Amino acid sequence: MQYDEVMVRYGELSTKGKNKKSFINKLVQNVKFALHDFDELKIHGGRDRMHLTLNGADSEVVLERLKPIFGIQNFSPVMRLERDMEQVKKTAVAMVQELYTEGKTFKISTRRSDHEFELDTNDINQLLGAEVLKHVEGITVQVKKPDIDLRVEIRKEGFFLSSQTILGAGGLPVGSSGKGMLMLSGGIDSPVAGYLTMKRGVEVEAVHFHSPPYTSPRALQKAKDLTSKLAAFVGSVQFIEVPFTEIQEEIKKSIPEGYLMTVTRRMMMRITDRIREERRGLAIINGESLGQVASQTMHSMIAINDVTTTPVIRPVVSMDKNEIIEIAQKIDTFELSIQPFEDCCTIFAPPAPKTKPDVEKTRKYEARLDVEGLIQRAMEGLVISKIKVGDTLEEQQKEAFSDLL
Ligand code: ATP
Ligand code: MG
Repeated sequence: MQYDEVMVRYGELSTKGKNKKSFINKLVQNVKFALHDFDELKIHGGRDRMHLTLNGADSEVVLERLKPIFGIQNFSPVMRLERDMEQVKKTAVAMVQELYTEGKTFKISTRRSDHEFELDTNDINQLLGAEVLKHVEGITVQVKKPDIDLRVEIRKEGFFLSSQTILGAGGLPVGSSGKGMLMLSGGIDSPVAGYLTMKRGVEVEAVHFHSPPYTSPRALQKAKDLTSKLAAFVGSVQFIEVPFTEIQEEIKKSIPEGYLMTVTRRMMMRITDRIREERRGLAIINGESLGQVASQTMHSMIAINDVTTTPVIRPVVSMDKNEIIEIAQKIDTFELSIQPFEDCCTIFAPPAPKTKPDVEKTRKYEARLDVEGLIQRAMEGLVISKIKVGDTLEEQQKEAFSDLL
């Protein structure tokens, strides 16, 4: 069915008091961005709801695009009619018919904000109910838990009919809580950490460390592909590549094996913090999960976190691997993450890193390095690109292949 409008209900937004207006503006902006290729759409963010006037745009596609946008509780495709009961009857029957399969039940729920209208809600429920029963063979009324709930709103500006409520992504509009730098490896955890932070309204930029020629171009591409999956929730994500080869070689040369991992992580943390500062981010996000590996004990966290006072957000810190994997599957990053391309840390990882690194010793060993010089050279070599939804290698190959057919 070609609908006239989509009505979007805000989630938690409505409880945000004074900030509400800026939250709504952000959400409108994100929705516009996700639908930027529909010139005919008109989007209006009201206090309690957002209205999308479709003007002929394909409602199926619009509904699909709304699903991943954070800050939306649910939404309904809507028919908007003139104040003409005959027209309403016909449309009500057509809408129920579209959803009807054998054995399904229905009800009509009318709300009337225009109290001057000659029929009251009961009259309308009965009138339309009778019409549906007459035209949809086999259907029955069920008031408590109907399969199809046709909602009718009688307003001054017209009559509005909707029969479906589609669950939105919840959370807060991305960007409404500021910006953070996501340390994105090629693993399972960090994309999930990125997703969970975006869900709370944070605009995320991905920082990825790579060490060519020890790490392959495929490993870099994998991190970009993961970023493209995260971009599905916002349209695009900035991807920042950090050249890390020199630093890893220097660390390998001068630092005792047991402290390689700790010092490597400290360098990553420092550089991410520098990038954050330059790009006006407020926090660092990573995929650390307590106890998962040697670098993720509380002692390690102390030693690594020693280099900054910037808040480090660890959304998966207390989750079990299975719980993280479940989310990775939901956001479609899992299959990519388990591809076997080694990232920079795995390659230089010693067989037995210290699980309880000592902060003083870490600082002492690290003093053997030209920390500032190494950071500066890495900063000069940053490569920044904007990654959009559907930018993954696999999708590009599919597209190239379809051109050949
Ligand atoms: P992940 O599944 O996210 O790779 P992991 O279990 O493999 O995590 P580690 O390799 O110890 O854990 O990494 C811990 C965190 O450090 C990662 O979640 C990520 O945030 C960050 N990190 C590790 N390697 C890189 C990298 N090459 N570039 C950017 N960040 C990284
Ligand atoms: Mg990893």
